[in-house]
Amino acid sequence: MFHCRRCRFLSVLLLLVSCACGNQTRSDAVWPSPPEASTPEPAAVSPVSMLATPYGSSLASSAPPAFSPLPAPSPPAYVASPSAAASPARPSSAAAKPSRKPAATAEARQSAKTGAAQAGSRKKQPSRAAGLLIRSGPAASRRAALTFDDAPDERFTPQILAILAKHKVKATFFLLGTLAKQHPDMVARIVQGGHVVGNHMNRHAYLPKLSDEAYRNDLQASEQVLQSLIGYAPRLLRPPYGAIRPDQLLWAAEQHYVTVNWDVDSQDWRGLTKEQVKANVLGHVHPGCIILQHSGTGASGNLAGTVQALPEIIAQLRSMNYELVTIPELLGVAKEK
Ligand SMILES: [Zn+2]
Repeated sequence: MFHCRRCRFLSVLLLLVSCACGNQTRSDAVWPSPPEASTPEPAAVSPVSMLATPYGSSLASSAPPAFSPLPAPSPPAYVASPSAAASPARPSSAAAKPSRKPAATAEARQSAKTGAAQAGSRKKQPSRAAGLLIRSGPAASRRAALTFDDAPDERFTPQILAILAKHKVKATFFLLGTLAKQHPDMVARIVQGGHVVGNHMNRHAYLPKLSDEAYRNDLQASEQVLQSLIGYAPRLLRPPYGAIRPDQLLWAAEQHYVTVNWDVDSQDWRGLTKEQVKANVLGHVHPGCIILQHSGTGASGNLAGTVQALPEIIAQLRSMNYELVTIPELLGVAKEK
């Protein structure tokens, strides 16, 4: 079929690319069923791509930052400014590594395809969704928020809670409904520690690929589990992998959710060392930042670096005169709906 070497080479290359994409789209499988469980959410979103776009790479891929801010159905007290977020004036991975191009991750590419396909009849929704995905708080005060995703578990969550209690820090934990149901005692300890609980969906699905019905059912299932355990329906929502379609954002807002990603990524899910976790956090903090770490992981994951780094991150942030607050405190929103 291919008569010259160049054509044969190109055909092989196309085949390889096709295979790679096919494999990568499987990474949105239900959390925490192995082997995908060993790849927690930030795998989809590199810090470079996250910080280079105002709404996170996945959303930006499916809905470029041409959003214009319009009133949200249920606007939070504080909504990050798209223009401010688009201008990386603050220290960031992108700024620190200018030679690196924004990474078009597998899930970002998939999101672009899926978003375009599923949102084809919803062309006006990206603009309506503008500003609904929050990545940081006001820069006016010297505050920072520690957040921990994929909670709870029995391995790392207790250690993190002990450190936070020792240093008198209140944080925000984004819980999976399935895991909360498995570890109700740990959920109670999070609440008793004075921390805020947010919804991280029920099964850690990659939201842009979900049908409307599947997305809504998953969100509501998690909400029901969390409400039964903590006594309130969380107002905060963090999409797994930080990935969500504009129409899903709008629906969440109509359900009175405030959707919150992050703008400082510890990358701790990679099993990094204490020093690497510290560098990823402390090298990029700024007033109003939201810091992503994890307190749960799959069976093969290791968050020892997070646990070891946490006391020093807290001490260093305080020495830099940062006040450590919860997301509701940072954004001026209620923790419950
Ligand atoms: Zn997660």
